[in-house]
Amino acid sequence: MTDLVKAPFLVAGGGIGGLAAALALSRHGYRVHVLERAEAFGEIGAGLQLAPNASRMLERLGVLEQVTADAFFPRRLVLMDALSGEQITALETGEAFAQRYGHRYFVTHRADLLQALFDACKASEHVTLESSKEVVDVEKLPRGARVSCADGTVYECGALIGADGLRSVVRERLVGDAEPVCSGYVAYRGTVPMADMQAKAGLDRLDDMVIWAGPGLHLVQYPVRRGELCNQVAVFRSPAHAAGLPVWGTEEELEAAFADVCPEVAGGIAMIDRSRRWPMFDRPPLEGWTDNHVTLLGDAAHPMLQYIAQGACQALEDAVVLADSVHAHGGEVAPAFSAYAAQRAPRTGRVQTTARLFGDVLHIGGVGASMRSALLRQRAHDDFRDTDWIYAYPGPGAPGEEAQPAACRTP
Ligand code: FAD
Repeated sequence: MTDLVKAPFLVAGGGIGGLAAALALSRHGYRVHVLERAEAFGEIGAGLQLAPNASRMLERLGVLEQVTADAFFPRRLVLMDALSGEQITALETGEAFAQRYGHRYFVTHRADLLQALFDACKASEHVTLESSKEVVDVEKLPRGARVSCADGTVYECGALIGADGLRSVVRERLVGDAEPVCSGYVAYRGTVPMADMQAKAGLDRLDDMVIWAGPGLHLVQYPVRRGELCNQVAVFRSPAHAAGLPVWGTEEELEAAFADVCPEVAGGIAMIDRSRRWPMFDRPPLEGWTDNHVTLLGDAAHPMLQYIAQGACQALEDAVVLADSVHAHGGEVAPAFSAYAAQRAPRTGRVQTTARLFGDVLHIGGVGASMRSALLRQRAHDDFRDTDWIYAYPGPGAPGEEAQPAACRTP
């Protein structure tokens, strides 16, 4: 015996991408129902960097003010040598940056972003949310989809958006491609009170987003929650993974990987949260991720390595572009989804491949590292040419005007 529930737009996955998509559609007056596998809507992990391309989307969604309330605005993005402790290069994120991109670069706690999206969804009369709903099967229908959950509930919808992350069930049914690609790198991450970092890890004042790069490793550090907490992400290549061992990325490997780093990095590693680790996966770019009334969004569509801090930013862009496309097509889902995927795939594909490349640049050792650092030291700190294509999106004249909510529509 199953319960059948009918919904116009159904979103599988209530993470950053799924909630942003629901909110974006609701801003155009569409009714959306969100299914989240976890018992509660929330984010694990710690900090999140959000570039101006994300701020622009949050502004469109009407939540930028809430998201930035407790955020931190770093002065610079800095690349340091994790072995020598010397600065390699930096990007100023002050006045000139804000003028160029219309927004500052900011860092925040993941939970703060998700809470702002969640609160806005709750406040919308067009969005309904259900947790403890794990999508286990998807069947495409001529004008929609049928979605089954682990608890036996079945949903029929006019449009399905798979925002269910790296191991998306919707993607599996839609595309059925190979497993995500394991990079052989693993991340440890968490926040530590800034006062503890200063007292116990020898951290000086931290006003920047800093990446310490070394052979096969890096450490990211930046303040969150108005500077009260220090967010850290330590990433390294696992020899055990390379040797094909089933258990890899352990604490012992973390210690060994960072054994030769400079005192500043060693201090950070000593303080990093070891309770959980995240093996790093991505996928190669996918050309088509829409089939009629079913589409994908965020990590489900284009999972990427986090090295250029764009996964969540791209999910936010997806959400706004998708909703705008539905609106522009007068609620005709199939052409709207198809236009959305055609617009997004080239950009997200470029971000995915750039993230992999940037990982290579960070993790190179020996002569390669010396050449990288020598070249990067020559660039000016207000040279924005390499970041324009990411941060200036959608660029002048592109879609992005505030949409007027319309009467409630169904696809
Ligand atoms: P997810 O966050 O994976 O959300 C998917 C949601 O779907 C989850 O809530 C999950 O519980 C739910 N779900 C999964 N399966 C099902 C199912 N079968 N049924 C129902 N619900 C389901 N990005 C940035 O922009 N800036 C950064 O600084 C940054 N730093 C990062 C650091 C690290 C270490 C990592 C790993 C990633 C980082 N990212 C960053 C990337 C970013 O976290 C992701 O790209 C982003 O969270 C993707 O959002 P999403 O909603 O698409 O997927």
